[in-house]
Amino acid sequence: MGTQKKTPAGVMRTEAEIRELAYNLWWSWHPAAQQIFQELSPYVWEESNHNPVEVLQWVAPQELRARLQVPQFHRSVQFVLDDFHAYMGAKRTWMRKHAPSLAGESIAYFSAEFGLHESLRIYSGGLGVLAGDHAKSASDLGLPLCGMSLFYRQGYFQQQINSDGWQQEQYPLYDPARLPITPVLDTKGDRILVPVEIGNDTVTLQAWMVQVGRVPVFLLDTDVPNNDQRYRDLTAHVYGGDNWTRIAQEIVLGIGGVRLLRAMGIKPATFHMNEGHSAFLTLELLREQRAAGKSLDQAEAYVKRHCVFTTHTPVPAGHDRFDQGLFTAVFEAFAQKMGVGTIELMGYGRENVADTAELFTMTVLALKFCRAANGVSELHGHTSQEMWKALYPGVPMNRIPIGHVTNGIHTAGWTTATAHQFWTARLGESWTEHLRDPRFWHAALHPKTVSDEELWALRISLRRELIEFARKRLHEQNLRYGAGDTESLHRVLSPDVLTIGFARRFATYKRAPLFFRDFEWAIRTIVSKEKPVQLLFAGKAHPRDDAGKRFIQEVVNFTHRLDLFGKVVFIEDYDINVARHLVAGADIWLNTPRRPMEASGTSGMKIAIHGGLHLSTMDGWWREAYDEHNGWKVGEDTTASTEQMQDDLDAASLRAVLEQEIIPLFYQRGKDGIPHQWLRRVRHSMATLIPAYNTERMVVEYAEKYYTLPKPRT
Ligand SMILES: *Cc1c(COP(=O)(O)O)cnc(C)c1O
Repeated sequence: MGTQKKTPAGVMRTEAEIRELAYNLWWSWHPAAQQIFQELSPYVWEESNHNPVEVLQWVAPQELRARLQVPQFHRSVQFVLDDFHAYMGAKRTWMRKHAPSLAGESIAYFSAEFGLHESLRIYSGGLGVLAGDHAKSASDLGLPLCGMSLFYRQGYFQQQINSDGWQQEQYPLYDPARLPITPVLDTKGDRILVPVEIGNDTVTLQAWMVQVGRVPVFLLDTDVPNNDQRYRDLTAHVYGGDNWTRIAQEIVLGIGGVRLLRAMGIKPATFHMNEGHSAFLTLELLREQRAAGKSLDQAEAYVKRHCVFTTHTPVPAGHDRFDQGLFTAVFEAFAQKMGVGTIELMGYGRENVADTAELFTMTVLALKFCRAANGVSELHGHTSQEMWKALYPGVPMNRIPIGHVTNGIHTAGWTTATAHQFWTARLGESWTEHLRDPRFWHAALHPKTVSDEELWALRISLRRELIEFARKRLHEQNLRYGAGDTESLHRVLSPDVLTIGFARRFATYKRAPLFFRDFEWAIRTIVSKEKPVQLLFAGKAHPRDDAGKRFIQEVVNFTHRLDLFGKVVFIEDYDINVARHLVAGADIWLNTPRRPMEASGTSGMKIAIHGGLHLSTMDGWWREAYDEHNGWKVGEDTTASTEQMQDDLDAASLRAVLEQEIIPLFYQRGKDGIPHQWLRRVRHSMATLIPAYNTERMVVEYAEKYYTLPKPRT
C-alpha cells in the first residue's frame, strides 16, 4: 500500500469554497457553476431538480477532494470561484455610481412567493418568478435589498395528470437540510425566534435565509415545536387552505416579517410590498410608532413615508378580502396591544371607512399606507387607477397616484446553457453586463456578428433540446400508466416542425384551449402534410380551481386523440425548469389572456434571448412592446363587450395570423433550407425586446422612481 498523502491546503480551501457556493443562488444564473455540480454527480443533479446542496451531500468528502486534485476539474472550479468572489466583492456597482444615496440604506422587499430556482419550490407562478428575478437583478445592481417571504415546507403541489386528464396534487415534504437555505441565527448562534399574535394565541416564528448573490431572502416558518399543530401547518403550502389560513399566513408575512427584521437589527428605509399579501406590515409599523409614543397622525405619516406598493391584480375579484368576523377573530389581541378597536383597524382596509359592511381589502390597506404605488404595465397602471379611484375623491383620473413599471425577467437566469454559450462565443463573457443597452443588441444582431446560418443552427439546437426533454418527460408520464413503450415515443414531436409553446398557470382567463376553438381548423393545421404545426402545453391549475382543471383536461384529451398523437403534448408539473426548456425551444410563444386581465405577463419575455417569437393578445407588456415586426398580435388593442365576443374575435384573429403569416413565413425557405425572412423577424425581436424587457431595466426604474423618491416630510 502506498503512503497516505495529505490533502493539499489549496484543495481544502477550494472544498470549503464550493460548499459556500452551493448555498448562494448566484450559481442559478451562471451555467459554468451549475456545470461543476452536475459533473460531480449527473444522477443526483437530475434527481434533485438541480440542487447543489444535495449533490454535495451525496458526494463523499474524500471523493470531492480526490476530484479536486484532477487538474482540469480544479481549473474549472477555480475559474468559477474567482468569478464568484469578484462578483461578491465588487465595489463598482450600478448603485454606487447612479444611486449613491441608497448606499447606507436598506430596502425590504416583501412577497408571498419567490420563484428563484426549481429546487426551491416556494412559488406558484409569475408573481413569484418576478420576485425572484427582482432579487437577482437587485443583487447584480448592488442595491441594498433584502427579501421577505415564507418557507413553505411542502411548497406548491406537484402535478400529475390521471388517465381521465384530471389534475392530481401531491405535496412532498421538503427537508430544509437538503435545500440551499440556512437557519437565521443570532450572534450567539441561536435561532432567532419572533412572536406574532393570531387571535388570542401567540405563534412563534423561526426563519431561513436563501442567499441570492449579494441579496439575502428571509423565509418565515411556523413549524416550530412549541406551536400548536394547526399553527405548525400554517406555512406548509403556498396559498394553501381556507380564508383563515390565508389571513393568518399574511399576518406571519407582514407582521412577522417586520419583527424578524427588527430582531436582526435591520431598519429599512423602504418597505416594498410586492402585491397586497404583505400589507399587514403597515399595521405593525403603525403599532411600533404608537408604542414609541407618536400621535396617530405622526404614526400614519411615518408608515406612509416608508412604504411603496406594487399591485398586480387587474380585476376586483382577484384581490384578497376578509370579512369582519374573520378579521376581528385574528386581530383581537394585536388591536388591544395597539390600543385601538378592531373596527378602527378595519377602517384602514375599507374604501369607505364608515361602511362597516365593506370587506377588508389588502390592496386598500397598501394603497392608504404607501408613498408611491404602481401597476406592472402601462395598461395595468390605468386599469388600477380606474379600479381604485374611490380612494382619491376629487382627483382627476390621470392624477390618481398609481404609476406603472413594466415587468421584466432576469435574462441571464432564463438563458439556457446552449444559448449562453452561443452568445458568449460571439459577444464575449461580458454580454450579461449590457442588458440595458439597445445599441449593443442592435450590433449583436447584425448579420456580421451572427449569420443566418448560425442563428438558424441555434434555433435547431434549442428546438431539439426541448424535444428530447419533452420525450423524456412524456416517457416518465407514460410509464405511470403502464404505457411506457419507447418505440412510439420516437414519433413524438419532430425537430423540423413549427413548434408552438404555451405554458403558465391554467387560470381560465389565459384561455389555454383558444387555439382549438374551431376544432376542424385546429386539426387541419396541425396535421398538414407540407406545413405542420406542433404544440406543447404545460401548467398547473390552483387546487381549488375546477374550471382551470377542466381546461387542463380539455387540452390533455386532445393529446390522447390518435390523429394528434405526438403533435400536441402536455408536460406535467410545470415549474421553472420546464419553463426554461419551453421558452428556449419554442419557435412561437403563444399568450392569449383575455384583455385586460394580464397585468403584465413575463413568460413571453423569456423567449427573446433564445430567438423565439411572441404571439399574444394586446395585453400587459406586449401592448407596449409590439411594433408590428418583432412578433405578432392576436386581436386588437380594444376590449369587446362580452367575454364570448372577445373569445370569438381573438380565436378568429389567432387563426388568421397563423394561417396567413406565421406558418407560411416559417416554411418559406431559401435554397439553403434556411427561413431568412423568419430570421429577420427574430433579429428584430431580439434587438428590440432583450434590452427593454429585463429586470435590470425594471429594478433601475424602481430604484430611480420609487426607492430614491425624496421622502415627504411629516
Ligand atoms: C415565467 C413564468 C410564469 C409567468 O408566466 P405568464 O405567461 O407571464 O403568466 C409562471 N410560471 C413559471 C414557472 C414561469 O417561469
